[in-house]
This record gives sequence, structure tokens and C-alpha cells, in this order.
Amino acid sequence: LYVEHPLGEGQTIPLTQPQAHYLFGVMRQGVGDAVLLFDGRHGEWRADVIEAGKRGGVLQVAEQTAPQRDPPDLWLLFAPIKKARTDFIVEKAAEMGAARIIPVQTEFTNAERIRQDRLQAHAVEAAEQCGGTFVPEVGDLHRLDRMLADWPKDRQLMFCDEGLAGHAATLAGDLPRGAPWAILIGPEGGFSEAERARLAALPQAHAVSLGPRILRADTAAVAAMTLWQRALGD
Ligand code: SAM
Repeated sequence: LYVEHPLGEGQTIPLTQPQAHYLFGVMRQGVGDAVLLFDGRHGEWRADVIEAGKRGGVLQVAEQTAPQRDPPDLWLLFAPIKKARTDFIVEKAAEMGAARIIPVQTEFTNAERIRQDRLQAHAVEAAEQCGGTFVPEVGDLHRLDRMLADWPKDRQLMFCDEGLAGHAATLAGDLPRGAPWAILIGPEGGFSEAERARLAALPQAHAVSLGPRILRADTAAVAAMTLWQRALGD
């Protein structure tokens, strides 16, 4: 269970109503039961339920059960699509260990705004489900052109280019390993000529193919993260 409180031995943690509902209603836990907690920064901790009610409850933190495990320094930039598919991308990126998930507005992106709080809640749920100790930060909607204009010098960018769809699904073997990275996935309409020109002019950007077929953006995000992990991740 994810809690916002920084965790430490002996602390008491008040539960929110949804947390109490999940623990006591759905998971059938009660007073005396042990629950595993993480706060995103201090590893995993065992806590005991000391009060349980319908609307709340209290846990007492007992001991640390696992150290903090942080993901590699990988950002996933994607152009938001329909709600359910955007939710899917955030969930899968959190499961696969992205450190930051950033929705970007491109020329052909339809979404004008996103519900950042809802997407962040999906990232928390995904981290809880896969026993992680880290929750990726979901950013607000950023404009891609502005991000590229101010792109960090030391961060490499894996630009997933549907224009390369006919080529084999490989990454160039000499891409810099160990550097901070980002993956960029475009919208259903793909990238505009202006965006392609900006990406071509950015030395940190490396155009890659995800294989012979054009994938839907949500599939492309998962495929790209898998390729990145295989070729460059740790
Ligand atoms: N409308 C575009 C077209 O027909 O060429 C397809 C866009 S695709 C549905 C959405 C995004 O997924 C693309 O912008 C790209 O980032 C990524 N993508 C999908 N298939 C890909 C592939 N085979 N290689 C590289 N990127 C791909």
C-alpha cells in the first residue's frame, strides 16, 4: 500500500477512506494483521493494523522489509489518446519502471488537457500491484516543441518513428549506455514535418523502428520500453 507519509519505525499512519475500504472491505484485513507499505523513497515496511473502521483506520509501522529500489532514469513522453488507452499507457509505463511519465501535446494530438491527478493515481495503483517501492511522477501536459527547444544536454531521446516501420526492430548498437534516457511516442496521426525536422536537428535524438508494422500508440509505448530495457536498461 502506498502512503504519502515518509515511513519510519514506530510511526502511526492514519488511513484515508479509500485505503480503509480497500484493506478492510476488499482485502478483509483487520486489527492485528500485517500490511506492507511504501512511500516511494524509503523502501518497503511492515505495519500492523491497530484500528480498523469503515471510514478509516490506523497502522503502526514495525520494521523495514526491503530497501528502496529506484528505476533507471527513463522518461516516457507520449501524446495522450483516448482516455482508456492513456490510462493503459500510464499503468504499463509505471509497471515497466519509467521514472517520469510526461504527456506531450504534439501538432496532431487531439487532447487539449489531461486529468493529471487521475493519471497519477493510476501510476500509484500500478506500483502497488507490482510490489514496487517507487511511484513514477506523472507530469502535466507539456508542449513537445517547447520541450525539444529546451532539451537537457545529457538526456538521450529514443524517437519512435513510424516512418521507419519497414525496418528491422533494432536499436543502433552504439547508442550511449547508462545515460539518462527518454522515449517519445507520437499520436495516432504520427509526427508532423516540423516535428520531424526539430527531432532530426537534436543531437540527443535517435530515430528507431519498433518493427515492420505500424503499432497503436499504446502498444508502441510497451514495445518501446521493452526494446529500451533490452538494449539500454539496467
Ligand atoms: N498515423 C501514423 C502512420 O500511419 O504512419 C501512425 C502513428 S502510430 C499509430 C502512433 C505512434 O506509435 C507513432 O507516432 C510512433 O511513435 C509509434 N509507432 C507505431 N508503430 C511504430 C513503428 N513500427 N516504429 C516506430 N514507431 C512506431
